[in-house]
Amino acid sequence: MRLKQFKAESKKLLDLMINSIYTNKEIFLRELISNSSDAIDKLRFKSLTDESVKISASELRILLTIDKDARTITISDNGIGMTKEELENNLGTIAKSGSLDFKKENKDESIDIIGQFGVGFYSAFMIASKVSVTSRAFGEDKAYVWQSEGALGYTIEEASKDTVGTDIVLTVKEDTENENYSRFLEEYGIVEIVKKYSDYVRYPIMMERTKSRMKDRPEDADENYKNEYETYRELETLNSMIPLWKRKKSDVSDDEYTQFYKDTFYDYEAPAKVIKTESEGLVSYTSLLFIPSHAPFDFYSKEYKKGLALYTSGVMIMEKCADLLPDYFSFVRGVVDSADLSLNISREILQKDHQLKTISKNIEKKIKNELSLMLVNEREKYEEFFKAFGRMLKFGVYSDYGMNREKLQDLLIFYSAKQEKMITLDEYVSSMPEGQKYIYFAAGDSAERLAKLPSAEAVTDHGYDLLLCTEDIDEFCLQMLRNYKEKDFKNIGTGDLGLETDEEKEELKNASEEAKSLFDLMKNTLKDKVCDIRLSSKLKEHPVSLSSDGPVSIEMEKVLKNMPGSEGMISAKVLELNANHKIFETLKNANESGDFEKVEKYTKLLYNQALLIEGLKIDDPIEYAKAVCELMN
Ligand code: ADP
Repeated sequence: MRLKQFKAESKKLLDLMINSIYTNKEIFLRELISNSSDAIDKLRFKSLTDESVKISASELRILLTIDKDARTITISDNGIGMTKEELENNLGTIAKSGSLDFKKENKDESIDIIGQFGVGFYSAFMIASKVSVTSRAFGEDKAYVWQSEGALGYTIEEASKDTVGTDIVLTVKEDTENENYSRFLEEYGIVEIVKKYSDYVRYPIMMERTKSRMKDRPEDADENYKNEYETYRELETLNSMIPLWKRKKSDVSDDEYTQFYKDTFYDYEAPAKVIKTESEGLVSYTSLLFIPSHAPFDFYSKEYKKGLALYTSGVMIMEKCADLLPDYFSFVRGVVDSADLSLNISREILQKDHQLKTISKNIEKKIKNELSLMLVNEREKYEEFFKAFGRMLKFGVYSDYGMNREKLQDLLIFYSAKQEKMITLDEYVSSMPEGQKYIYFAAGDSAERLAKLPSAEAVTDHGYDLLLCTEDIDEFCLQMLRNYKEKDFKNIGTGDLGLETDEEKEELKNASEEAKSLFDLMKNTLKDKVCDIRLSSKLKEHPVSLSSDGPVSIEMEKVLKNMPGSEGMISAKVLELNANHKIFETLKNANESGDFEKVEKYTKLLYNQALLIEGLKIDDPIEYAKAVCELMN
């Protein structure tokens, strides 16, 4: 018999399990039962779509057996089973990598990575010194047994098994000073664990239990007869099986929903919201949805798959039906159960399925309503939610050419410079003083820096509020919205902010005309670095600032720089000069007296300053430093 090595990743994980980093070792049972239930699902599904498969639904079950003397617990199912190759591939390898890295980075023991990564089977080694898996796959005559005593490796041999399915025998470790493993050999202990974690498993989880009962009273018993008791063994179903979403809302406690959510979606935190719906009508269905209170660690990665579990009459047809959720609500988790869906539908047909479309539309509405309510009634909670998932909503506004912007715009919140808190667009507009034409916003990576920008001060000095947008998606999102309640959005980093009176405008125009030869020389110095040089009255103590013309703003340029395929998306920069600043005087004088060298030198300095204020890199830092030093001397 050849001892095979585990794949490297699997071996590491196995080591972790054996040396048992988890305090709640009892979850091994949840993991194995859920594997069994999946295996039965697979067989049942096969039988519903393939007429040659004949099974009797009433016989499907998971059987637990405890043998105290042998110190074994057996989990036995009549599911689809595994072929020799499947035993090898499924139990010798971990499907998903990255789990170990995650555990290393996150020392927090409360994080339930076992479930999160689907490495469930190995958790058996937390409590077992030896694991033996005998399995016969559906449609096969031969059975095989996979055995392992831990990290050294495993063996696979032919075995005998009359029926299709899998028997997993765990030899429970001996007790140690710190750990009482024998509790897993006690009936009541096992019953408790099953109730706690696996109550909604759709198939009966059965175990023979020792019970006691009163013996029948003998017919000839006299008044001195004392009741006698006897023990007997009886097969009992341990789980209630009724899915939570099928029970009336009033019959289910918040705790039960939370527990269900935690167990099903492997989250250690309670959800922010539970949404239960029941719909009778064109399509009847029940759904149980959850808005998580934080983003799963892989949420913003490609690994994350959106979708709701889809059941028809209690049988799962798809674990993650993506079509049930729009991308912008991809954070929602949950279950949809509809008796109206036919079982043997393929993924492709499902996409076109009318009923499914109706359900997904209703669900979307429901989620939106629930979020709107949270926004109004539980603002703090909503802000937490938005921190985790607001980005998805903003993407939702931006993507599909803004198709969904109206649906989502009222769910957005941004940081208000004036009110120093997150506000909605509606709150912004309704507190606008008379005469304010635009919704002003500043975009960049730090709210602190944005608030201090010359143009930001110009806006707030006018008594206008300013939204400080610090996520890279923000500006794209607002640009897609274009306006809200007929007020256009105005990026304070672009051109005319509409703050000047007609008089001021006239003055600037005149001053610009007077300075024409100066501006020509400056433009010539900066060449194509800027598209224009203008005078501005919005800059208070600053001599210069940069703004942009055209569709790409300076912030967008920064964001786009990091995206493939957007090379050459550069903002058209405008150097704005403060008409009331001494430096403008100095420049004018130098130009008039023919000191063009000075004008050129100052122009470059000012341009570089403006770049720095915008948080941009300057082209030649050394030259800039030299020039500043010269001025100091
Ligand atoms: P996961 O269940 O998350 O895929 P596991 O390590 O728990 O990860 O199991 C690996 C694979 O082994 C399963 O995906 C399944 O294909 C197979 N498997 C485990 N237990 C059983 C079982 N009782 N019957 C049939 N197949 C099983």
